[in-house]
Amino acid sequence: MSISEITEKIQALKAERNAVILAHNYQLGEVQDIADFAGDSLELSRKAAETDAAVIVFCGVHFMAETAKILSPEKTVLIPDPHAGCPMADMINAEQLREFKSQHPGLPVVAYVNTSAEVKAESDICCTSANAVRIVESLDADTILFVPDKSLGSYVASKTNKKVITYCGFCPTHHRILSQDVVRAKRAHPEAIVIAHPECTPDVVALADVVESTSGMIRFVKSSDAREFIVCTERGILHRLKLDSPDKQFYNPSPLNICPNMKKITLEKVLWSLQDMQYEITLPQDMIEKARAAIEGMIAV
Ligand code: SF4
Repeated sequence: MSISEITEKIQALKAERNAVILAHNYQLGEVQDIADFAGDSLELSRKAAETDAAVIVFCGVHFMAETAKILSPEKTVLIPDPHAGCPMADMINAEQLREFKSQHPGLPVVAYVNTSAEVKAESDICCTSANAVRIVESLDADTILFVPDKSLGSYVASKTNKKVITYCGFCPTHHRILSQDVVRAKRAHPEAIVIAHPECTPDVVALADVVESTSGMIRFVKSSDAREFIVCTERGILHRLKLDSPDKQFYNPSPLNICPNMKKITLEKVLWSLQDMQYEITLPQDMIEKARAAIEGMIAV
């Protein structure tokens, strides 16, 4: 089947099922193109919760689909490939978090949204890469436990006077972007602005002119007068950046910044997902409630 035939079938089934399709900024370009909304994980889940769709097809990784389920428990949430997980989110489970907490009793836990529902349910409050500093600042404690990303945690620590004790998780995809890659790209494109995601290692973040979440990068590039950008995050974002700003130049610093899990979702799998109503995300009600409290705490801040 050609891409246009698959797209046609997806659109017909989407209407039949009253479904909404969400695609994370790191998805394949053709998957982003068929989505009703493309963006970052929390933004997508919040948008989907506002629609009257009965079904959410989440083109992203597992924790993202779980977040959609937490915010829309009455909707059927599907992920087109059940093996699309996030290695960073999988670096901590609820038991490991309880152990981490027992080593630092009484301290509040901030969980990056890139965590499983069970970890969110064990945490006091969630954060995104865009609001992590604000969330940490908002807590009535001088020392904070931060899970799972040590890179985002150390970025937050550099922006606040609070002591941030980080868990040892990291994003393998962002950690494959090396400072040498960025230095080389800067040498080749001296006029370019370096934008980096805070999941990058601290030495890459130190070389960046701008540190932003994926949505923050998209907004920054759109409004910037600069013409050239070295983009330090997963390369799927280049699709959206080029669509939004076709007159600007984007440079990918590394040949290795591909998240294999994000790329597990294909157009065919989106079609099969809608055809077979698979793979459904289910979560225990009490876990949904506790995880939702951590997310709503963040939204309130
Ligand atoms: S890019 Fe990193 S944080 Fe995002 S899904 Fe892939 S491994 Fe997880």
